[in-house]
Amino acid sequence: MAKDYYEILGVSKTATQDEIKKSFRKQAHVHHPDKKSGNEAKFKEINEAYQILGDEQKRKQYDQHGDAAFSGQGFGGTGMNWNDFVRQAQQGQGGGGVTMDFGDLGDIFSEVFGFGGGRRSRQSGPRRGDDMEIEMSVDFLDAVFGVERDIRLNRVATCEHCKGNGAEPGTKISSCDRCKGSGQVMQTRSTMLGTFQSASVCPECRGEGKRAETPCKQCNGAGAYERPEEVKVKIPAGIDNGQTIRLSGLGNAGERGGEQGDLYVHIRVKNHKQFEREGYTIITHEPMSVSQAVLGDTIEVETVHGKVNLKIPAGTQPGTQFKLGTKGVPHVQSSSKGDHIVIAEVRIPSKLSRTEKKLYEDLRDEKGKSWL
Ligand SMILES: [Zn+2]
Ligand SMILES: [Zn+2]
Repeated sequence: MAKDYYEILGVSKTATQDEIKKSFRKQAHVHHPDKKSGNEAKFKEINEAYQILGDEQKRKQYDQHGDAAFSGQGFGGTGMNWNDFVRQAQQGQGGGGVTMDFGDLGDIFSEVFGFGGGRRSRQSGPRRGDDMEIEMSVDFLDAVFGVERDIRLNRVATCEHCKGNGAEPGTKISSCDRCKGSGQVMQTRSTMLGTFQSASVCPECRGEGKRAETPCKQCNGAGAYERPEEVKVKIPAGIDNGQTIRLSGLGNAGERGGEQGDLYVHIRVKNHKQFEREGYTIITHEPMSVSQAVLGDTIEVETVHGKVNLKIPAGTQPGTQFKLGTKGVPHVQSSSKGDHIVIAEVRIPSKLSRTEKKLYEDLRDEKGKSWL
């Protein structure tokens, strides 16, 4: 019976290669036999469909002649179970004569066969620089209002002596013997899915395709080297403890003209002796006397934006909270500000003058326990 590969992959007959690949990846992840939702038969089926539709040439043949054009190929009809299949794939045995583009499917296959990450084919050409991450400790008020800091960090930067080409200035650069200048060496791996041709980076020239006859003295031919550099880090107002800022282009230099990696700065905000912070809210505990709390008063409160007068009503209980609107932390991505919360901390005197003691005694005799 003819199989409808389009239906199996859930794409239309007019789907682009990109759509086909996307749909395949999605389904392969869902039906992967190692997953709860996994389904071995379904996984094989979508693999088979992708082998055909994912290849322009084979897709054309399929559109004209149906799957009869491919009977006996792939592992659809091998009668092997999944475990045999995986084992053979890992051991590099078997073979079905289907050549697949390994690079396209790198992530799926590393997941399925445990080939491991980082084994990417086609690595010649520009490579983006590695990202870097650092941790930075910031004063409480600097985190509230933002600050600019110059920091020194070791990072890989393009060699200024050879301008990154790895050759001592004025010397010759010749084509690599091992890869004939292509920067890649081909490797063949046979599995039940077929024979995979995978390209890997030429170990001789590290993918450059060419070699400096006299390596640059400054960078030993690498074209870049690690050195301490001053970097300006702008910390936005409102940043909080545990947050991370990304500074694009401040990571390590790329290879062969690849773009610079990013610098991730993990922020640690130091404590403040007076202010506490919860998100964009600043909290302070304001001490006041028993008589201030009982009779009411106006107190001066220090906020991050300066001093503010706060009216304490008569009969204020310990722990009462007062809100000072928009006296808190500026939001990182807008112009609004958090609030400042004042918590009333009524201090009970522990030392009294003779007169004070007399007054408290009079107060006691006057009211007794009736106020409770
Ligand atoms: Zn150099
Ligand atoms: Zn080479």
